[in-house]
Amino acid sequence: MLKIEHLGIAVKDLKQSIPLFEQLLNTPCYKTEAVETEGVITAFLGVGESKIELLEASKPESPIAKFIDKKGEGIHHIAFDVADIEAEMKRLAALGFELLNPVPKRGADNKLVCFLHPKSTNGVLIELCQEAK
Ligand code: ZN
Repeated sequence: MLKIEHLGIAVKDLKQSIPLFEQLLNTPCYKTEAVETEGVITAFLGVGESKIELLEASKPESPIAKFIDKKGEGIHHIAFDVADIEAEMKRLAALGFELLNPVPKRGADNKLVCFLHPKSTNGVLIELCQEAK
């Protein structure tokens, strides 16, 4: 794994949370992007080499809506940058980690992504991501 690519934070309302994180980090949100297949709208802010990804549900059955119902707003996942996502998925699956998608899928911010089930990672939802070419 190359670095922590971003931290995902589930929020109820991007309109409120974007200005809050802009103030907190003292940097503007540089991008918002809807990921229809995941039912989320994302917003990104840079922190050094890393990013904060704010996630708002775009429909009631979105995993983010379910997460907020259960746990409230807060840290949702940690994303690690990897050089070769398929090799990394193979390596982790062989070690017994549970992959939530068997093939890399298209995520926000021009990434190929794969999530690991939190029950196999001490309760932390992990995202692997690789820059899509
Ligand atoms: Zn993410």
